[in-house]
Amino acid sequence: MTDLEAVRKQKEHIATEFSKQQKSDPSLQIGWTRAERGSNEYKVIHGLLYKRTKFETNTVDDFALVVPQEHRKDLPIISHDMVSAGHLGINKTKDRLMNYFYWPGITQDVANYVKRCQTCQLTASVKKKRARIITSVFADPRRATYVKYHDRHNGSNHE
Ligand SMILES: [Zn+2]
Repeated sequence: MTDLEAVRKQKEHIATEFSKQQKSDPSLQIGWTRAERGSNEYKVIHGLLYKRTKFETNTVDDFALVVPQEHRKDLPIISHDMVSAGHLGINKTKDRLMNYFYWPGITQDVANYVKRCQTCQLTASVKKKRARIITSVFADPRRATYVKYHDRHNGSNHE
């Protein structure tokens, strides 16, 4: 069982309260309306609202639990930072998350989270620094001197 699956089970366990929060979240009204109209996209299962995020099994497994505002905060962290998640990029983090959860604006929320991730930023800056050092070691210093010398003697100002 993955960590996301465990968290989803916890939330399903508190179904009554969770369902109330789903119902009172204005951003989820459109989902409830669509489910009531029998849409293919949203479904109510045991009183909880789900949204189809996959077309693989044609079962409940294709549906993600719709998350009200107050339950969203930790989910990008779990999907991105946990050891099993390994700081994947925006799309993979989102795909992982959407196996289990969905909310309107999830793509933007995941993108914002991943862009601000300190660990990812640190890794990126170490890689850049390493690339700069390698570039300067391999640049030919004689050629740089020659270019400067050459330009000066041609009456050119730029170095
Ligand atoms: Zn990260």
